[in-house]
Amino acid sequence: MKSDASELPLWAWPLIALLLLGQATWIYRDAQARGERKFLWGLFGLLNFPSSVLVYLIVTRALARRIECPACQGRIPAGSRFCPDCGAQIPSHKPSRDS
Ligand SMILES: [Zn+2]
Repeated sequence: MKSDASELPLWAWPLIALLLLGQATWIYRDAQARGERKFLWGLFGLLNFPSSVLVYLIVTRALARRIECPACQGRIPAGSRFCPDCGAQIPSHKPSRDS
C-alpha cells in the first residue's frame, strides 16, 4: 500500500482542507460550549485529521472532567460532593444564573 502524499490526486487536497476546516470548526464550537481554550483547540484542529479530534476528545472528555477543590485547590472529579483529598464539601460546580 502506497501512502505518499505526493501521489494524492489533485481533487483530494480541497477535500482534506475541508475536512480540517470542518474539524477545527467543530472543535472550536465544542470547546466554546465547554469553556475550554477554544482558539488553542481550534488551531489544533487544523493540524491533523483525525488525530487532532481524537486527542481533543480524550483530553476534554476523559482528562478534563475535573474541577478544582475550593479548599485545597486539588483537581478532583467533576460532580464530586466531597473532596477526596481534604474532605471539604464541594458546592455545585455549575455557576448560578440568578443575577
Ligand atoms: Zn480539597
